[in-house]
Amino acid sequence: MEIEFLGTAGGISSLYKTVSQHKDSIVRTGPAIYIHDLKVLIDTSEDIFYQLRRSKIYDIKIGLYSHWHPDHTMGIRVWETLNYDFINSTPNSNKTKIYLTEQQKLDFKKYFGHWDHLNYLKSLGVIEYDVVANDAQITVGKTTIEYVQLTQAIAFGFYIVTPTQRILIIPDEIKDYTPSDNIKNVDIAILPFGSNEVNPVTGERIHEEGMLERLGESRFDESVAIARAINAKHTYFTHIESTEGLNETHVAMLEQHLSQYGLNCTIAYDGLKIKS
Ligand SMILES: [Zn+2]
Repeated sequence: MEIEFLGTAGGISSLYKTVSQHKDSIVRTGPAIYIHDLKVLIDTSEDIFYQLRRSKIYDIKIGLYSHWHPDHTMGIRVWETLNYDFINSTPNSNKTKIYLTEQQKLDFKKYFGHWDHLNYLKSLGVIEYDVVANDAQITVGKTTIEYVQLTQAIAFGFYIVTPTQRILIIPDEIKDYTPSDNIKNVDIAILPFGSNEVNPVTGERIHEEGMLERLGESRFDESVAIARAINAKHTYFTHIESTEGLNETHVAMLEQHLSQYGLNCTIAYDGLKIKS
């Protein structure tokens, strides 16, 4: 299984003080994850067009969304730019299958005209969509992808079972999530980094005290506690706010510190591929 982090930023991605720890990947762009073997894309931020171009991804079979928030959805028109056939007078466009849960359908109807836009894309012939239950399981070849509705009920993670591996991907909104027993001890967990009022390494204050708590944001130490409860063989943290200002040294210190306490983890960067 090859999983690529197309974008590892949080809600404020490319314009404001975006930094990454990796020399080949100096910026963080909007959140998106691509599973190459299955041709499955999770989330379309406003950066998705350039992410697909950079990673040479031209053929996507399935599109999934974690939730309606703009940092995960505002590149929704990419299905047209990716698939539309502008050569022939009767277009012979490629088609991606989009899945939405019942919860996401309600939210897409409520916010940003996403539901109207999806129907427009369908009328162009560049997508088809299916609305599925909030705990639905999708089968792709010999792999199943199960929606995991989070405690923040607008948002979903994905529990993926292949013939040889179990993988959990939670792109965002992990606040107050308690993992159920069946998803524990997975091979790979991908979790949101959380937002922090102080830099988690230097202790330097980023936000006014109590601000993120009031916004209901999850902190890094809360994400770490959830990661410990999940107990994956390897955990990747993503969805990293530009305001964190994490540099190469910070990341190395964090990874080392956590591994000393039994959590094998990697802080993801744009373009990182998990090959397993
Ligand atoms: Zn987000």
